[in-house]
Amino acid sequence: MLPHALARFRPPIATMASEASSAAPATACGVDEASRRRVIICGGGVIGACTAYFLASKAAGRVAITVVEKSAIACAASGKAGGFLALDWCDGTPVADLARASFLLHRSLSDLLDGPRTYGYRALTTLSLALSPSELSRSRSPALPSWIDGAAASRPRTIGTPETTAQVHPQLFTRALLSSATAEHGVEVVLGEVQSVDVSGGGAGVVLRDGRILPADAVVIALGPWSSRLPLVSALFHISGLKAHSIILRPPQPDAISPHALFLSYQPTPSSKILDPEVYPRPTGT
Ligand SMILES: Cc1cc2nc3c(=O)[nH]c(=O)nc-3n(C[C@H](O)[C@H](O)[C@H](O)COP(=O)(O)OP(=O)(O)OC[C@H]3O[C@@H](n4cnc5c(N)ncnc54)[C@H](O)[C@@H]3O)c2cc1C
Repeated sequence: MLPHALARFRPPIATMASEASSAAPATACGVDEASRRRVIICGGGVIGACTAYFLASKAAGRVAITVVEKSAIACAASGKAGGFLALDWCDGTPVADLARASFLLHRSLSDLLDGPRTYGYRALTTLSLALSPSELSRSRSPALPSWIDGAAASRPRTIGTPETTAQVHPQLFTRALLSSATAEHGVEVVLGEVQSVDVSGGGAGVVLRDGRILPADAVVIALGPWSSRLPLVSALFHISGLKAHSIILRPPQPDAISPHALFLSYQPTPSSKILDPEVYPRPTGT
């Protein structure tokens, strides 16, 4: 996941204070509207959706949350990703604990939100394979699932088990989380393009391209590779995108495809570059 910037700001700005009156209605949890903190989350990808979901579920009505998305929820990388999850593949790196916690959180979240049905959550066996179309092998490894051409695949190695690897359909996952945050916790989604985040004058405001200004106590910037377009972010550090292709195939008999993810290495000719496509069959039939 790409990093995102979290900007925290001081108490409500003047426009908010003047909007709030003593007759402000109480929310479902008994917190009156005037004392709720306003958080604007810029970006409706998986980072924005997860931030909204967890903030809303932990804050129990004490925070009013708005997600601002330019086009559609999960329209960018968060809708096109492989959706692959691994428990221990970051071990030995600074994010090892985070990756492990994230994997386990996905498992419990799936129990809570009916992940297998709602967004295609399932455990996987993950194989690493070398594809050698020029050197066809005579014997077929028993580790290969039936839908793989055994002659062209060699050296299968199990690099993940159902205990350590899993998947989600990333677009369905992102949308399911945000739908739950909207339905259960009143998170609001606004379609609009964030032009700037204004932190002058003792408060914060998100300025949209169409001229709307959304006042806030805190702003989360989760615009993926576009985050650096905001001077507030680019003044601190640079975030850039990394392009990757995603091709979706619909097999004629999706039920014949078992829950195996494949990490392939493929060298079309001895002198060409080794390519490393990844294959993630989904329970949704793609
Ligand atoms: C092909 C591919 C495969 C991948 N596979 C995996 C994988 O298997 N496992 C894994 O963990 N990760 C994978 N990733 C990485 C993962 O998809 C990304 O890290 C993740 O989706 C980033 O989420 P995000 O919310 O930060 O950004 P994004 O998904 O880019 O969301 C940013 C959102 O901000 C919106 N936006 C942009 N500018 C504005 C603006 N000015 N105003 C309002 N909204 C704006 C965009 O429309 C977009 O919806 C893959 C990525 C790709 C491309």
